[in-house]
Amino acid sequence: MNGSAEALLGQSKKIREFEVTVDEVVRETAETVSRLFRHGPEIPAYRPGQFLTINPHQFPCIAGFTAYLEQVKGKKELPRAYSMCSSPHEARLAITVKEEPFVAGSTLYPPLLSPVLTRACPPGSKLSVVGFTGPYVLPVDVTERSDEIVHICAGSGIVPNFSIIKYCLSELPELRHTLVYSNKTWDDIIFRDQLEVLAAAHPDRLSIVHALTRDEAAERRGPNVVRGRITSDLLRSLIPDVTRTEVFTCGPGLSKWDKVAAAARGEKPSPRFLEAALACLAEIGVPEHRIHHESYG
Ligand SMILES: Cc1cc2nc3c(=O)[nH]c(=O)nc-3n(C[C@H](O)[C@H](O)[C@H](O)COP(=O)(O)OP(=O)(O)OC[C@H]3O[C@@H](n4cnc5c(N)ncnc54)[C@H](O)[C@@H]3O)c2cc1C
Repeated sequence: MNGSAEALLGQSKKIREFEVTVDEVVRETAETVSRLFRHGPEIPAYRPGQFLTINPHQFPCIAGFTAYLEQVKGKKELPRAYSMCSSPHEARLAITVKEEPFVAGSTLYPPLLSPVLTRACPPGSKLSVVGFTGPYVLPVDVTERSDEIVHICAGSGIVPNFSIIKYCLSELPELRHTLVYSNKTWDDIIFRDQLEVLAAAHPDRLSIVHALTRDEAAERRGPNVVRGRITSDLLRSLIPDVTRTEVFTCGPGLSKWDKVAAAARGEKPSPRFLEAALACLAEIGVPEHRIHHESYG
């Protein structure tokens, strides 16, 4: 581990509000957009895997909608969390946002902030953000604990892991990574080309398996593409030593609204991606202290 990596992994927490300016907007998939920011020199340092928060009250274009939702819900709309897709060694801070859908008859309220962050905020827009925080980070002694990291992600759950992978490939040469990434179709894969470029540049340090749940042509997409969900058999084949591998898993999990709705029906909530991934890891015997997880529910 080099000196700057050591300093960054061990740094103390300093969270504060600061302003960023949208520098570039990149459409990643039909549902997701990255925003790359310019900022002043005095922003806090962040660790790969951490997030910032954005308060919806700062956007005049949704002020009426925000007030209406607060009236209907009977509570204040809180800031939303967004993981950095950028790595601290890169020049620009960046986030990637997936637009939440409103499904009539299924979703209780229309989403508030993600449509703004995916469809509005062109280059030049100024945003107030609060950062940085979050425990989904590499352990300070990661290179002593392991030389193998397995990332298990679904959908926008790739965002913090993309930051961690980029950081490690640049700053922590001791570590090898396997990414198992679940999406519905080939076109839903966020950072698909960037991931391929990283894997080609680091063939001994990054391997990627895509698991596609609704892609008729999955098997024809390439040798590293499997059809279906991530299973315990797949994870068993990718984690050679469960006692030495550090696992980072992130994706949609049960939200408190899912739990409340299931309880009202007198049912147990059906597991979402994160609960399913954790169950697979328990089944194949990965010790809990080796598992880091973050839910976007
Ligand atoms: C640590 C963390 C990191 C995250 N990082 C990212 C990221 O990198 N990229 C990303 O795209 N997302 C990320 N998220 C998710 C993000 O914070 C938002 O939750 C997401 O963008 C949706 O926000 P929204 O305002 O559009 O939707 P919301 O208005 O929050 O609505 C979302 C859903 O919740 C339901 N809901 C809201 N309020 C209620 C209520 N009172 N009762 C019942 N149901 C309700 C709505 O009906 C809707 O289905 C992250 C979340 C966490 C916790």
